[in-house]
Amino acid sequence: MDLRVAIVPVGRMDPSEVEAAAARIAKVLNQSVTLRQPATVPKAGDDPARGQHVAGPFLGELRGQLVRLPVAKVVGPQAVPDPPGQPAAGATAAQVTLFVTDVDLYKPQTDGVFGDIDATAHVAVLSVRRLREAFYKRKADPAKARGRLVKLALYALGRARGLPECNERACAMLATASLADIDMKPEKYCASCWRRLTTGAYRI
Ligand SMILES: [Zn+2]
Repeated sequence: MDLRVAIVPVGRMDPSEVEAAAARIAKVLNQSVTLRQPATVPKAGDDPARGQHVAGPFLGELRGQLVRLPVAKVVGPQAVPDPPGQPAAGATAAQVTLFVTDVDLYKPQTDGVFGDIDATAHVAVLSVRRLREAFYKRKADPAKARGRLVKLALYALGRARGLPECNERACAMLATASLADIDMKPEKYCASCWRRLTTGAYRI
């Protein structure tokens, strides 16, 4: 398989936290993942009264920044040095790009969302704000938050690649509305979603 995935931290998002998640995603995909230099927090969608951003315009502006963001690092099982004189492998256009932000996002008629996906443009934004125990006034649990980010990323990756949701409970493509649902999911795809993802059978 040759599924090129880029992951981009946004604003003050800790790059090491994003890299740790990227390493886990690369392991699930058995494929290296490209990390790009951080994007700046979009002004688009800013709602100061709510202390949140509207997810759709936020993602749209991030997408516009993408061409200006150089590759920071390539992580994963096949992250081998590029031969001299060759363009870096990570510099090739990603098929799916995931932005990771600590800004709280919402969509109209919601209090807040975990992220947003633009399947047509093959991009998604994930917010860690509601994945952290601190948001719910509970004791910090970084490992738990990271696992949630990985699962959300696997789901967003599938959707951004055109995969439908899955009814299999042991699959990252299972539709999840709540944090508890996300916690129940595994950090992997079921056999049929894996086949769709790797063959591009459901690509839009
Ligand atoms: Zn599945």
